[in-house]
Amino acid sequence: MGELALYIHIPFCRRKCGYCDFYSVTQLHLIPRYIAALVGEIDCVAFRMRDKAYAVRSIYIGGGTPSLLSPDDLSTLLRVIRNSFSVDADIEIACEANPGTLSAEWLAGLRRTGVNRLTLGVQSFRDADLQRLGRIHDSNAACDSIRSARNAGFTNLGIDLIFAVPGQTRRAWQENLEQALSFQLEHLSLYGLTVEPATPLAASVDRGEIKLCPEELQREMMLDAMHLLPQAGYDHYELSNYARRGFASRHNCAYWQGMPYCGFGASAHSFDGKSRWWNSPDVEGYCLAIESGRAATAEHEDLTGEQALLEMILLGLRLKTGIDSHRWHVATDSDLFEFARKGKLTIAEQAPAFSPSGDGRLLTHIDQSLCLTEEGVLLYDAVCEKLAAGVQLRADAERTH
Ligand code: SF4
Repeated sequence: MGELALYIHIPFCRRKCGYCDFYSVTQLHLIPRYIAALVGEIDCVAFRMRDKAYAVRSIYIGGGTPSLLSPDDLSTLLRVIRNSFSVDADIEIACEANPGTLSAEWLAGLRRTGVNRLTLGVQSFRDADLQRLGRIHDSNAACDSIRSARNAGFTNLGIDLIFAVPGQTRRAWQENLEQALSFQLEHLSLYGLTVEPATPLAASVDRGEIKLCPEELQREMMLDAMHLLPQAGYDHYELSNYARRGFASRHNCAYWQGMPYCGFGASAHSFDGKSRWWNSPDVEGYCLAIESGRAATAEHEDLTGEQALLEMILLGLRLKTGIDSHRWHVATDSDLFEFARKGKLTIAEQAPAFSPSGDGRLLTHIDQSLCLTEEGVLLYDAVCEKLAAGVQLRADAERTH
């Protein structure tokens, strides 16, 4: 029986943060209509999958700001899934929530819905960073939300933090990490601030009002996390993610391992291992499609062999477990390590993944897998670019034969 991950997108935010390019809107009055449409879409997709053998292993409610929904609305969505899909007994049900939108009652209500994994969008424990990011909460609200989530019974609790916020010093970032450690959370996701086109942050940078964090400082901040968190008992299992033993995100691992998933809601993506399809980023258009009995799918793409290999590289290298050479061999009838060497990438032998290789190599060969070293993590984009160039050459050669 195959495994399946389900994602529900809640595209509502109280206010847009200046750096964000995720799809979300601030018209909260559309929430009831959107919930009804989600119920319709979930029912419809489950009906289409009725003859397939699968078990849902994880559900992820993301956004946007899922904590703008009432526990009753979230409960409705989860009930529809349980009634219409074949769901594993020990399913992971994860939800994102934002400090500044939470209360003790809401958290207790969420726990009763069966959500067993909570991620709080803390981003920073410093007010200066939170203001710069345009977040609606302050440092006190961030700390309160963590304590309240614990009090509500969440024993699988994580936070997101952002580093390289303009004006953030290395010491300030280290203090953020230390404060996060003081809460003894199960999971930490750390993201470097990126300037996405057409965001207010990009406009401020273009006008010279905001100076971005220098690259060297970003690198030092990444290394701070990579050294401090494993010492505190966290496994650095994915480029941006650290977990205590047994608390890696099952849902996100399914994405990185190329497993099938179904997404519901405006802008949600789905994947069956061979094809990908997605709904348009338009709440009203999405509702209208479902209300008129149509599928909300906006586009569909069958992955070419070349795209499938690129995904294997881009996703596989994100994980500490790396790219499985058997999988590569099955897909290409060639040797993964030879392929990497042809791209002028030297490979250490058995140096631990995500750790210094000793001689500055970017890749390491561990058992049957090709993994990044610590230096490779810092240069992930450059490594992927080199391997992607090899995939392109391979595809060009196949086309000319
Ligand atoms: S709360 Fe999250 S999804 Fe909403 S605008 Fe801010 S960063 Fe984007």
